[in-house]
Amino acid sequence: MLSIVVPCFNEQEALPYFVKEMEEIGSSISHSIEYIFVNDGSKDNTLESLRELHQKMPNRVRYISFSRNFGKESALYAGLQAASGDLITLMDADLQDPPDLLPQMIERIETSDVDCVGTRRQDRRGEPAIRSFFARLFYKLVNKFGDTEMVDGARDFRLMTRPMVDSILSMTEYNRFSKGIFSWVGFNTEYISYENRERVAGNSSWSFWSLFKYSIGGIVNFSDAPLTLAAFIGSISCIAAIIALIFIVIRALLFGDPTSGWPSLVSIVLFMGGLQLLFLGIIGKYIGKIFLETKKRPIYIIKETEKDLKKER
Ligand code: UDP
Ligand code: MG
Repeated sequence: MLSIVVPCFNEQEALPYFVKEMEEIGSSISHSIEYIFVNDGSKDNTLESLRELHQKMPNRVRYISFSRNFGKESALYAGLQAASGDLITLMDADLQDPPDLLPQMIERIETSDVDCVGTRRQDRRGEPAIRSFFARLFYKLVNKFGDTEMVDGARDFRLMTRPMVDSILSMTEYNRFSKGIFSWVGFNTEYISYENRERVAGNSSWSFWSLFKYSIGGIVNFSDAPLTLAAFIGSISCIAAIIALIFIVIRALLFGDPTSGWPSLVSIVLFMGGLQLLFLGIIGKYIGKIFLETKKRPIYIIKETEKDLKKER
C-alpha cells in the first residue's frame, strides 16, 4: 500500500485540483492508495472539504484535524504517524509537488536498493531574487558548518520506505526541521530534478520573516557550529587583547602615559560590547530550544479525525 501524506493549511481551493490530479495518476499505479490529509488549523473550509472527501471515498481518505495551526513540520509528523503503507510519500496540497513523478519514483524505489527518492527543483527560476540569495546562503552555511548535509532545492516531496519512516518517527524532538531529519537518519536517498511549478490556487503561507526563522531553526537544531564560531572569535579577540595590553603597558612604562587614545578605547569597548551581545544572543537561541525541548509538550493536538465522523452518524 502507498500512503500519501498531505499537510493542508487553508487549502480549500487547491484540494479539489489535488485530488483530481492525484486520482488520475493513482489509477496508473498498481498499489492501493491511502490518503492522509492533515488539516493544520485551517481558517477556511478545508476541514469541511476533508469530511466530504472522506464520505466520498471512506476507505481511501483519512484525515486528521489539529486543534490549531501547529506548522507544516508537525503536520508531516502526524501524517507519518498515521500512515500505514509500506511506501509513504509526502506531498503539498497545492500541486507544487507534481504527482506525475510518482510512478517513476515508485519504480525506482522498487527496482533498486534506494530507501528514499526525493525531489529537487532544477533551478530557482520564478522566485524573488532576494529569496534565492538567502536560500543559497542558507544552504552554503549549513553544509559548510553543519553536521548533516542538506541538498539545495530539495523539497519535502519524497517517497520513503517503511524502515526510513519508522526511524524518522523515532525522532521525537519538539523543534522539528524535516530537511535535517531526513538527512540525519541516513538511508540511501536519490534525487529527481523537476521544473518548478506555481501553486494551483490559494497563497503560499511563507513570509520572508517566517522563512528567516525557519532557516535559523535549521541551523540551530542541527548544529552547534555557531557556538564553536563564537568560542573561536572570542578566543582570537582575547589573544589580541592580551597582546595589545602588553604593548600598552610596556609603552607606558618606557615613554610615560600622555592621556590620549580615547577614540581607540571607545571603539574597542563598543566592538567588544557588540560581540558579547551577539554571542549572548546565539547562546540564548540554544537555551531557548533546550527550554522548549524540556517541556516535552506534544508535537500536535488532534481535535477530530475521520473516526469521529463515523461516531456522529
Ligand atoms: N502547510 C501546513 N501548515 C502551515 C503552512 C503550510 O500544513 O503552517 C502546508 C500547506 O498547506 C502546503 C504545504 O504545507 O500543503 C506547503 O506550504 P506552502 O505552499 O504555503 O509553501 P511553499 O510551497 O510556498 O514553500
Ligand atoms: Mg506551495
